[in-house]
Amino acid sequence: MIPINKPWLDEDAKQEVLNVLSENSLTSPAKNGGKRVQDFESLLKSYLNVKHVIAVNSGTSAIHAALLSIGIKPGDEVILPSFTFVATANSVIATGAKPVFADVNKNDFTIDINDIKKKVNEKTKAIIPVHLYGHPSDMDEIIDIASSRSLSVIEDACQSLGSLYNQKQTGTIGHLGCFSFYASKVLTTGEGGAIVTNNDDLHEQLLMIRNHGMVNGYDTRVFGLNLRLPELSAALGISQMKKLNQMLGMRKSNAKFLFDGLKKFEQDGLLALPQEAANKKFNWYLFTIAFKENSRRDLIKNGLVKEGIGATIYYDPPIHKTPFYENNAAEYVAPSLLSNTEWAWSHVLSLPVHPLISEDDLSRILKVFENILK
Ligand SMILES: *Cc1c(COP(=O)(O)O)cnc(C)c1O
Repeated sequence: MIPINKPWLDEDAKQEVLNVLSENSLTSPAKNGGKRVQDFESLLKSYLNVKHVIAVNSGTSAIHAALLSIGIKPGDEVILPSFTFVATANSVIATGAKPVFADVNKNDFTIDINDIKKKVNEKTKAIIPVHLYGHPSDMDEIIDIASSRSLSVIEDACQSLGSLYNQKQTGTIGHLGCFSFYASKVLTTGEGGAIVTNNDDLHEQLLMIRNHGMVNGYDTRVFGLNLRLPELSAALGISQMKKLNQMLGMRKSNAKFLFDGLKKFEQDGLLALPQEAANKKFNWYLFTIAFKENSRRDLIKNGLVKEGIGATIYYDPPIHKTPFYENNAAEYVAPSLLSNTEWAWSHVLSLPVHPLISEDDLSRILKVFENILK
C-alpha cells in the first residue's frame, strides 16, 4: 500500500534519537526547554526567517496556545474555514470561544475573503486562515480585514511548511503561525508542533503557556498547560530539518509528473488540477484535484485504492457536518451556509506526492486515470 503520506526516516534520524537515549536527557521543564528543543527551534527560526519559534507537542497545542496568548475567551468569536482538519475548530472550543465557519474558494480551497467580511461582527477577535493542502490563503486581503478591525490573524500552517506567499514563508505573515509535525506532515517529529511569531510579548506569553504559566519554578503567572515537546521528538525534528529542502524538491517533481500526466483530462474538462497563482508557491503537501462529476471522483478513488494507492478525500466530512459540531451547532458554532465547502467535499481527491513514492507508483496512478476516464 502506498500511503497518502509517509515519514522519511533514515540512519541519521536513528542516530539523533539514540544520542538522546545515551545522554538520558528526555525532557526539560526549563522555561526555554531542553537542548534539542532549542536547537530545533533555531533551525526552524532560520529556515522560516522569523524572530521566535516555540516548539510544542502538537499542531493542536500550537493553535490552542496561540489563541490563549492573545487572550481569546468565552464570548469571543473566531472565524475559520470548516474545510480543514477538526483540530483548528477544536482549539477554538478549548478556549471557550465560538468557531464561526466561513466558506472556501472553489479554485484553491482556502478561506473565502467575501465570506469573512459577511461573518465579522463586534464579537469577532481573530481569523484563522488555513493553508490547506499547502495552498497559501489570500493573506494580504485577510490582514486588511483584520487591521481595519483590530483582529488577530493566526495562520494554521500545519500543512504548509515550505509554502510561500509573496516570497514569504507561510506562518510568518500573520501575528502568529502554527505548524504541525505529526507523522503525515511534510516534516515530522512523530507528534509535535510549533508556534512562530515576530512579536516579543507573544513569545514571552507562549513560553509560559507551554509550561503551566511558570517562569521560575512553581510561580504560575498565567494559565498554561504542559505543551512541551519531548527531546526524542526534537531530535527527530533536527534530523528532518537537514533534508527539508531535498524532501520539498522531491514533492515538487512528483507533483509535476502528475500534473503533466493529468493535463489532458483537465483540457477535456473532466477535472481541475492544482495551480499556483503568481504570488504563491506550494510545498506540495498533497496533490489535490477537483472532479467535475462526483461519480467520476468516486470511481477513480476506488480504482486507485484497489491498486494499493492511498488516494484520500480531505475533508470527509467538513467540520460542520461531523456529529459533534452538527449536534451542538446551536450552542458552540455560528451556523453557516457553506456551499463551496459542500461542493469541495463531494468533488476533491488528494493524491500522494511524498518523497518515498516511486516513479513507477506515479505511473500506476496515471494508468488508473487512463483506464477509467477513457
Ligand atoms: C495536522 C493539522 C492540525 C493539527 O495538528 P496535530 O499535530 O495533528 O495536532 C491542525 N490543522 C491542520 C490544517 C492540520 O492539517
